[in-house]
Amino acid sequence: MTVDLARCLAEAYDIALPHRGQGKVADYIPALACVDPNHFGMALALPDGTMHVAGDADTPFSIQSVSKVFTLALALRRVGSSLWDSVGREPSGSAFNSIVQLETEHGIPRNPLINAGAIATTDRLIDGRDGDAVIEEILAFIRARAGDEGVDIDLDVAFSESETGARNRSLTHFMDAFGNLRHPVETTLGVYFRQCAIAMSCTQLAKAGLFLTMDGRDPRTGEQLVEPHRARRINAIMMLCGHYDNSGEFAFRVGLPGKSGVGGGILCIAPGQGSIAVWSPGLNEAGTSLVGAIALEHFAYAAGWSVFD
Ligand code: GLU
Repeated sequence: MTVDLARCLAEAYDIALPHRGQGKVADYIPALACVDPNHFGMALALPDGTMHVAGDADTPFSIQSVSKVFTLALALRRVGSSLWDSVGREPSGSAFNSIVQLETEHGIPRNPLINAGAIATTDRLIDGRDGDAVIEEILAFIRARAGDEGVDIDLDVAFSESETGARNRSLTHFMDAFGNLRHPVETTLGVYFRQCAIAMSCTQLAKAGLFLTMDGRDPRTGEQLVEPHRARRINAIMMLCGHYDNSGEFAFRVGLPGKSGVGGGILCIAPGQGSIAVWSPGLNEAGTSLVGAIALEHFAYAAGWSVFD
């Protein structure tokens, strides 16, 4: 029996809708604090080009930590397995911006999806280049995947995050002190803050995630962007580490690799099936979109999509 995916998406949207506005909008980045918590959008992209959308699917939002998936793919492509000299691949069980493990683990962050690990990954992606060139590479990669040259950085968000970035600066200096930083702190953070401030809609983000559903091949352009085994490993890391200290709960409830950002977006990958992006700014205590996680749980259940089937 074929599943009516459009209906599954519409149902998931309707089930999650009454929760809209619940959770807490991230306010430690002042430019994010004023986002209306009532936004809620969903988009499902399929490898054959079909799109299904619901709600505010075409409103751009700050993708924040969802960007870490793209920089991980780019860094693996650029420096290969040597990336793992700088960052691990174990769940942290700690908050997204935690510093505690860095002390005992000698400046090597647990994984590329917590802040310290993402900063270390971005540092490796820079690979001796100028920060502006690297941010251009990240943008070009995302624009090509989304099929939309309009994807850009929200400079107000980037500025706001830099202004209030004491915590991320601490993490970066700490890694530097352990010799796990190859560029000046401000060069690496200059790229990191801007990558987090990329603004995308659910429609653009779902399309941009499709290469991870297809073993690293962009189904739109046919390009093999990362090797198949690397795409699978990125998905494995998303599954285990994509939601910080809420990763187990997300895996339990949704059963698919995902990455959340404090802007309220979640990118979820169903290998071989499709890519789903959800956005609603109210966050649970761990920093994952509360409404987004409810919607994804219901969509995955209705569609019968799980990496464990
Ligand atoms: N830009 C955010 C930070 O570094 C990303 C955190 C997130 O989205 O989880 O604090």
